[in-house]
Amino acid sequence: MMTEHERMAELLFPEPLKTAEEYEKIYPPRDLPGNAIVTRFAPSPTGFLHIGGLFAAFVAQRAALSTGGRFYLRIEDTDKKREVENGVSGIVKGLGSFGIEINEGMISENEEVGNYGPYIQSRRVGIYHTYAKELVLRGLAYPCFMTEAELSDIRERQEAEKKNPGCYGEYAIYRNITAEEAEKRIADGESYVLRLKSPGNEENRIKFVDGIKGEIEMPENIQDVVILKSDGIPTYHFAHAVDDHLMRTTDVIRGDEWISSVPIHLQFFELLGFRPPRYSHISPVMKEEDGGKRKLSKRKDPEAAVSYYSQVGYPKGAVIEYLLTIANSNYEEWRAENPNTPNEEFEFSLSKMSKAGALFDLVKLSDISKNYISTLTREQVTDEVIAWARENAPQFGAVLEKDIEYTKSVFGVERNEIKPRKELVKWDEAPAYAEYFYDELWDRKRDFDGILPKADIIEILTEYKKVYTPEETAESWFPNVREMSVRLGYAKAPKLYKKDPEAYKGHVGDVSSCIRVAVTGRRNSPDLYEIMQVLGFDKVMKRIDESIELLNK
Ligand code: GLU
Repeated sequence: MMTEHERMAELLFPEPLKTAEEYEKIYPPRDLPGNAIVTRFAPSPTGFLHIGGLFAAFVAQRAALSTGGRFYLRIEDTDKKREVENGVSGIVKGLGSFGIEINEGMISENEEVGNYGPYIQSRRVGIYHTYAKELVLRGLAYPCFMTEAELSDIRERQEAEKKNPGCYGEYAIYRNITAEEAEKRIADGESYVLRLKSPGNEENRIKFVDGIKGEIEMPENIQDVVILKSDGIPTYHFAHAVDDHLMRTTDVIRGDEWISSVPIHLQFFELLGFRPPRYSHISPVMKEEDGGKRKLSKRKDPEAAVSYYSQVGYPKGAVIEYLLTIANSNYEEWRAENPNTPNEEFEFSLSKMSKAGALFDLVKLSDISKNYISTLTREQVTDEVIAWARENAPQFGAVLEKDIEYTKSVFGVERNEIKPRKELVKWDEAPAYAEYFYDELWDRKRDFDGILPKADIIEILTEYKKVYTPEETAESWFPNVREMSVRLGYAKAPKLYKKDPEAYKGHVGDVSSCIRVAVTGRRNSPDLYEIMQVLGFDKVMKRIDESIELLNK
């Protein structure tokens, strides 16, 4: 004779299912050192990767890395409404472009690596049913046939009686439904969800220690939450418990919008006989505005989307430096003491995370990025700029790729170990930076206005053509310009000119400005001698001729 619970379980889950013991064997704990953190990033495939999500993924990955653990990517696609096409690839790409490497999990729309899969929830339905059936067998879950009308009815009653909303206790009208009645309703074609028969009590409180926020106390869960929706797909809460158990997650590191769900989660872990993970809840990434702080908003802030950073071209190395800086309060100091050590060697710690929420500050990111770019070699810059341009500025990229050696020398100007120039903040500044090095990109406009009278500029340029030779060296160049300036009636130093402006036509700075504008079009540029070396003697001469012609018009 079948018991009542057995009858119900067979009614709701007639399909052949593996047992929980079998799953325990299929997914044994990993062979890792005792303190190793196994954690994950578990986004829904909505296609949009929020910077807060990237930050959480980064923190989880670093926590795993620093303990010799594992970090995996699980796709939570139980909510079909939120899904977009190619949503998984968007996430995989987003993580990859910021160097967040996964050890296991989804690597593209349909492929995965690792022994704990499937790593996408829609392919784990049979697994969830095994555990849901277990709960039914133990009298801890029941089919609930409540209609929309009944649900809104209890909502109204609760409002009137000033009771907490939800399906619990006396409001959970199908809590004690018999297998016989369920069978009839199912035969009549009624749809149902599977609910937890929560053993929770309103009076009880639960406690847990959050890895970031410390000890937290909350009321125990009393809600008969949904385990499986009417289509048999689990809710996020139930899938979380089953997956994080079978995937042997030691640490759940996620956004703090989930804190309020912890009582439900801990109850599931307990009822299913699973050891609960440690939870670490990350506060949202904030933005400073009008003296206050607010969450970065997908709608209002372009920088909320991870794609923004690759589009404008913050190098991934700089973004990682930045994320480490806002994630761990002692990172900046460590970096100052270890300027050349790879960041992976920094001992990342969850307990050093800010409880209040990291402030996201584009000015600071730009500052870090500028420093970071100044430490790259000309080869690295060339590779990164070209990779950025291929995606975001293909015409510019094509020009750069025509002569890679030349492009390397363009980005090699003032790139030295002792005092590199800090010029570029992100790669979308590269076209403006590089423009005058390439005839096909440069508009040939020259900003001579107001440096000196036209006739004097013409005289300077004409004279300079006689002075500048292909043999010019970095050491000889400026002294030669200075000597020429003095010969033409200019002070050899701005200070001298300031003291006695009547005595000179101008000073050596004005003279080199004229040459700079003739060659580059601009008043400000990196080291002019180096630029002229990159352009080559013939091009420099041609540009000076062109300028004289322009001035004579
Ligand atoms: N799928 C959940 C989300 O989209 C994951 C939460 C968790 O990490 O447990 O945020």
